[in-house]
Amino acid sequence: MVLWRRELWRLILLAGVGLAAGWLLSRPWAGLATGLAACLAFHLYQLRRLHRWLTRHPQAEPPSAPGLWGELFDHLYRYQKGQRHTQERLLSILKRIQESSEAMRDSVVMLDRHGDMEWWNSAAERMLGLRAAHDRGHHITNLVRDPRFVDYFHRRDYREPLTLPSPIDEQMVLQFQITLYGDDERLLMARDITRLHRLEEMRRDFVANVSHELRTPLTVLAGYLETYATYADQLPPRFARGLGQMQEQTARMQSLVSDLLLLSRLEIDRGGGDHAPLAMDTLLSSVQRDAEALSGGRHRIGVEVSDTRALVGSDQEIRSALSNLAFNAVRYTPEGSRILLRWYPEGDGACLEVEDDGDGIDPVHLPRLTERFYRVDKGRSAATGGTGLGLAIVKHVLLRHDARLEVDSGPGQGARFRGHFPASRLVVAARRGATGTA
Ligand code: ADP
Repeated sequence: MVLWRRELWRLILLAGVGLAAGWLLSRPWAGLATGLAACLAFHLYQLRRLHRWLTRHPQAEPPSAPGLWGELFDHLYRYQKGQRHTQERLLSILKRIQESSEAMRDSVVMLDRHGDMEWWNSAAERMLGLRAAHDRGHHITNLVRDPRFVDYFHRRDYREPLTLPSPIDEQMVLQFQITLYGDDERLLMARDITRLHRLEEMRRDFVANVSHELRTPLTVLAGYLETYATYADQLPPRFARGLGQMQEQTARMQSLVSDLLLLSRLEIDRGGGDHAPLAMDTLLSSVQRDAEALSGGRHRIGVEVSDTRALVGSDQEIRSALSNLAFNAVRYTPEGSRILLRWYPEGDGACLEVEDDGDGIDPVHLPRLTERFYRVDKGRSAATGGTGLGLAIVKHVLLRHDARLEVDSGPGQGARFRGHFPASRLVVAARRGATGTA
């Protein structure tokens, strides 16, 4: 304000001096005009210096000037300096982010709200074949065209990662994971899991081969043991007891091998070849009969079918999953327990469920229940003849039929195992008895 006033005084002074000089020379207006022109010339001069400074040497110290102009130069200089610092700081942050993303071995691709690619690191160029000059602004599904990726991308359910071969190298196995952020933008990460995938494949093949190789010797052993057992009454009681135990353990090994083979097949084979509409009432009744035979009348086993739609799936696999659940219910519940096999609608889909009112399972075990060989009570499970693979098989079968295994149980509250199948897996049953009975 003070500076403004000073400028005003400068103007008045120059005009006054001009007027006074003009007065003395009997030309007061010409004098006033000269004073004002001097003032204007001064400002034009400073304006020119400002322009020169900003256009030619903006980094240099500002020119010195009196009054308001000096203040203006200083302000501009300080403002410019502040801006330069902020810019340098932001640039160095950006550089660090880019350097750290570049150093990452995983691919990182930033996508805008339409799914168009905005930025990616060099790992993405190596793994996905993106080219900086060419692909920026293109939709991600134009480059990763695998229908499984396109489906995953549009489904917007990114809780689970997706495993696929790289679009540029069939031998490279990538695990894709998408994260939603900001204004519907997406961050795509791809990790090279080729080594892990190979190891997993080797493990699967090894288990499958060993199980396969064990089958023949076990069949031979079981055959001879059965023959010897017919002469058991001629053997001393000590040997007869041993023979009985050998038969029992051989049978256990045989069921272990057959469960391991089934699991390997479920993991290796993609499935779908034998899928057909399954009449669920027939299937449930057939498993009920098998469970009753296992129970020997010690349990009350019921069937409830309230959805008439058929499940499209593999008869063998669904039967095996349902049998595992029903047999578990027989084996792990005390005499007199009630077991119910159900098929009922829920939402658009339908649920397959096995419920019992036995002793139940402590919730601490639930997250690990479907792991291979995980047992709640090791001693008891071995005594019941279980292989420890039953629920792992159930989980795999359900996953192959687009369902998830849900377990609901608590100590003393019984157990409820169920799989929810989506509507896409159901059809209106064409005729009864589409499934065979065991
Ligand atoms: P197993 O061959 O030991 O039965 P599973 O994978 O089928 O292996 O089952 C894992 C464990 O889950 C079992 O050892 C058992 O303790 C528990 N379990 C399964 N079903 C039931 C049930 N209906 N009630 C109580 N416990 C159960």
